[in-house]
Formats: sequence, C-alpha cells, structure tokens
Amino acid sequence: MEDVGKNLKQLMNHKNYRVRYEEMMDEVLKDSDVQNFLETHSDKLSSEEIERSYAKLYEFVQEKQKFLVNDPTMIAPGYEPHLSLNFHSIDVTYVPTKELLKRRRQEEIIGRIQTINMPKDIQKARLEDLDQTAGRGPAIIAAIDFLEAYQDEPKDFHKGLYLVGSFGVGKTYLLGAIAKELAESGYPTTLLHFPSFAVDMKQAIAKDQVGEKLATLKKAPVLMLDDIGADAMSSWIRDDIFGVILQYRMQEELPTFFTSNFTMDELEKHLSVTQRGEEEPLKAKRIMERIRYLTKEVEMTGRNRRKDS
Ligand code: ADP
Ligand code: MG
Repeated sequence: MEDVGKNLKQLMNHKNYRVRYEEMMDEVLKDSDVQNFLETHSDKLSSEEIERSYAKLYEFVQEKQKFLVNDPTMIAPGYEPHLSLNFHSIDVTYVPTKELLKRRRQEEIIGRIQTINMPKDIQKARLEDLDQTAGRGPAIIAAIDFLEAYQDEPKDFHKGLYLVGSFGVGKTYLLGAIAKELAESGYPTTLLHFPSFAVDMKQAIAKDQVGEKLATLKKAPVLMLDDIGADAMSSWIRDDIFGVILQYRMQEELPTFFTSNFTMDELEKHLSVTQRGEEEPLKAKRIMERIRYLTKEVEMTGRNRRKDS
C-alpha cells in the first residue's frame, strides 16, 4: 500500500503531474466497481471526502486489475480487493478468496495427519476412492464402523483394527484413508512405518532422545503402526518400545491400529523369538494381550495391487 502512495508522489513531482493525475483519476472513477460503490454511499461521502480517498480508489483499481490476471506482484495474493466505507473515508479491504480458504482447509486437514517414514502417496488415500472388492469388504466395513463410533463418542474407548493380509492388498492405503477421514472431521492421527521407526529409535539412543520421542508418540490421539512384524525385533524394541507404547495406549484407552502380513497368532510366534534367537514366549504373550485388547483382527485378501501400478 505504501508503494501506491509512492507512485502517486512520484507522479506529483512530474512536471505535467496535474494533467497526468487528473487523467489517472478519471480512469479510476470510470471503473464500474468504483462507480457502484460511490453511488451506494453517495449520501455518506462528500466530494471532498471522495477526493481525499483517491489514493485508496487508485489502489483498489490497480490491485483489482492485478487480481483479475493473477499478477504475482499484487499486494495480497489469494485475496480479492474490495472497497469499504470507513466512517467518512474509503478503504480497501482484502478478502480471502474461496480458493484460498479451500487451500487452507486442505492444508489444515493434511496437517492433522502426522506421518513418520510413510510413503508420500498415503496422503492421497480416500475412503470414497477405495475399490470395494469382496476381499476388502470386511475391512472397509470395520473401518466405517470405527469411524462412526469414534466420531460419535471420541472420548470413549474404541477398538482399532489389526489389518492382516499379504503384500500389496491395500492395508496401508486403508489406514491412510481412515486417517484422512478423521482429519476431515478434525481429529489428528499419527501414522508410522514401524520397522523404520525401530531403526530410528536405535539411533536415538546415542542422542538420548528415546524418552522424548516415545512420550509424544504413545500419547497420539489415534496411532497407526504399519507393518508390524516385517522385521525381527530386538527384545529392547519389543519390550521397551513397542510394549511401552501398547501398555500406555491400553491404560489410556487410546485408539490404535496395526497392519501386518502376520495374523495375530503368527505374530505371537514371530515375537517369541528375538533377533538374537532367544525364545521368550511369555513376553510375546504379554504383547499380544495388549494388541488383542486394543484391536479387532480383520483379514484383507485380493491381488497384489503393486504389480500393475
Ligand atoms: P499393503 O500395505 O497391503 O502392502 P498398499 O496399501 O501399500 O498395500 O497398496 C499397494 C498399492 O496399491 C499402493 O500403491 C496403493 O496406493 C494402491 N492401492 C491400494 N489399495 C487401493 C485402493 N483401494 N484403491 C486404489 N489404490 C489402492
Ligand atoms: Mg503396507
């Protein structure tokens, strides 16, 4: 807005400034929006008051022209200039456009989904776009049941889903779609690829960040752990990281989701043997008790969608 004032001043210094100035203001006063505005408010603005507002009218017409051609030098990109009456003077207000509001809302929604080590396209997943093949039916129905129950009573405990199925059937995609649906109704979700997270946690030991990372994660309002059991877990990851997260979520009754290539029974066997080969069936049983408390197991079947995509 200062620039506009400066332009006018520069113009006034010009030797023919009066002629130029008048020509320019004639143009401005010919603008149909300016004319409508002055007509609407003719009883509230004297001609001196209008003249004192010339800089604002000039700014309005300039910015409107830039807005119409989407000129990047406009004062407030994404905002449409409007004339407004400010007691006895004219002002320009910048009103956010529908597109800007829509973009902001989209950003807000995306911002509610925190992803850690997840593929980028997970944010595109939408429940409406899910192909409803028979093999996915029970999982989609279970997802909708969860969403309805959670949106009705977000403070109550709701079991999440334990999605089991082979590589490429769309387990991770379904998690993304659930997270998106939650985000659209205002609820944040944290989605993380568990095997990569386990590697990060081992690195966090050296930086003394384990406690801090674990504390924020276990408290996530909705937590989704992707690909459980894809790698052998060390007993530290199993008991002090995974077990601690599950224990907290069970105590606090926080919705938690898992995906795995293993059924719950298979996962129990997998967790009974540590990375070093030690057999610890009781520890695995304790983990499974928590997973069973937190989730309902649902199988997904179908073709591997990664083959033809
Ligand atoms: P999984 O986690 O079971 O291994 P993904 O969720 O990663 O499988 O899905 C495999 C591929 O298929 C991904 O590229 C994903 O974007 C796509 N995909 C999965 N389900 C759907 C769906 N219902 N509609 C469209 N694309 C899908
Ligand atoms: Mg997956």
